[in-house]
Amino acid sequence: MKKNDVVTVEVTDIGIGGEGIGKVDGYTLFIKDAVIGDTVEVKVMKAKKNYGYARLMRIVKESAFRVSARCPEARRCGGCQIQEMDYRKQLEFKNTKVRNNLIRLGSVEEELLDQIMEPIAGMEEPFRYRNKAQFPIGVDKEGNLIAGFYAGRTHQIIPVPNRDCVLGVPENKVILDQILDYMREEKISAYDEERHKGLVRHVLVRYGFTTKEIMVCLIINGDKLPCSEKLLEKLTKIPGMTSITYNINKEKTNVIMGSKVCPLWGQTYITDYIGNVKYQISPLSFYQVNPVQTEVLYGTALEYAGLTGKETVWDVYCGIGTISLFLAQKAQKVYGVEIVPQAIEDAKHNAEINEITNAEFFVGKAEEVLPEYYADYAKEHPGEHARADVIVVDPPRKGCERSVLDTMVQMEPERIVYVSCDSATLARDVKYLRENGYEIRKVKATDMFPMSVHVETVVLLSQLKQK
Ligand code: SAH
Repeated sequence: MKKNDVVTVEVTDIGIGGEGIGKVDGYTLFIKDAVIGDTVEVKVMKAKKNYGYARLMRIVKESAFRVSARCPEARRCGGCQIQEMDYRKQLEFKNTKVRNNLIRLGSVEEELLDQIMEPIAGMEEPFRYRNKAQFPIGVDKEGNLIAGFYAGRTHQIIPVPNRDCVLGVPENKVILDQILDYMREEKISAYDEERHKGLVRHVLVRYGFTTKEIMVCLIINGDKLPCSEKLLEKLTKIPGMTSITYNINKEKTNVIMGSKVCPLWGQTYITDYIGNVKYQISPLSFYQVNPVQTEVLYGTALEYAGLTGKETVWDVYCGIGTISLFLAQKAQKVYGVEIVPQAIEDAKHNAEINEITNAEFFVGKAEEVLPEYYADYAKEHPGEHARADVIVVDPPRKGCERSVLDTMVQMEPERIVYVSCDSATLARDVKYLRENGYEIRKVKATDMFPMSVHVETVVLLSQLKQK
């Protein structure tokens, strides 16, 4: 096979990035936008020795799992990878991904998984689930203002058709229309990334699914937003508008937000709930983007934690304390650990507004905080060691550092609840914990990001010596 070859191939598998995989005389081709079961005509774009990448040219025969995309830009836009795959097939693909990783990388026996793996939690309505959107603002070739999304792996802005992304709330469109009108009328420029010139870089919109409160934040390459009263006239008419701010980012950087938020109208935050826990969310706060499935995910974590009210619980990689506060209501004491100081500020504040007094938070790297806590405890309590009843971890993609896992094992928790956004590193860590006195008891995947290839998983491990 060589570059520019055109071949017809049947798609027989799905790659980890959601792409179709087909074989031509034993040679593997990865084909973006091809769905398992399709027969497609493709053009080879890049040919390696044993495998290559091909572009979908024509669908010869449609798969039974193919559906038409709701968004006309689904293929170009970097936001969705598998919008053309039937949602039930998406769920099966994600569940299989978790299962295969646990088997191949975690050495978990298939028979055991058959017994303990619960069905994946999907969404009833897998669109319009995102409570947050960040639209880059730019101009098209003719110089017209556009708001959109980045194309996959590039910084080319694709205008969102009708400014309505089908993963976000319909309010986004109304807000973007008003902001673009204001920019046109007041001759406000869009930021040009290459020349590092122009004013408006991004528009951030957050929507409280429970409270229906709306936050708008304009990220600008400057200190002031000219004629902002004209903008406020338009935006404050939108029902639910609660917070309008701008954020200053004058750096030549891919990072969207700068550190300074300036109020324009209303509060500088919106309020929302996950379960019965209230959160105040400011433009810079981290907050889960799919509130419906977050509640499902944390519900599973809470169930697996099996709390009775007497437990000491650690929530490692706690972010703004979402899981900690969820657990605190059912535990005696919760300790949270998180590397980002601002997130811990938010966690403490959220504990306060919910009148939760049994949660304590530490700022620092888990791989430092946990071993230090353990060592200090031993010094202060000769002959004893620090213990926990339950440890919950929700690490970033790279999983837990070895020293975190080692300290967890030393603390001898009855149960470990592992929440993961990357089932490959989850499997690696499960393997290590199984070699160190723990057994995997339950697994449940949750679909937090329909139409994308990401999948979240919760695993329960408990001490081997008890059943
Ligand atoms: N459970 C949280 C989010 C977890 S995401 C929630 O639902 O809100 C993973 C978190 O780990 C992030 O907040 C990230 O800032 C933090 N983190 C990353 N590396 C870390 C480290 N080495 N030590 C502690 N926290 C870390």
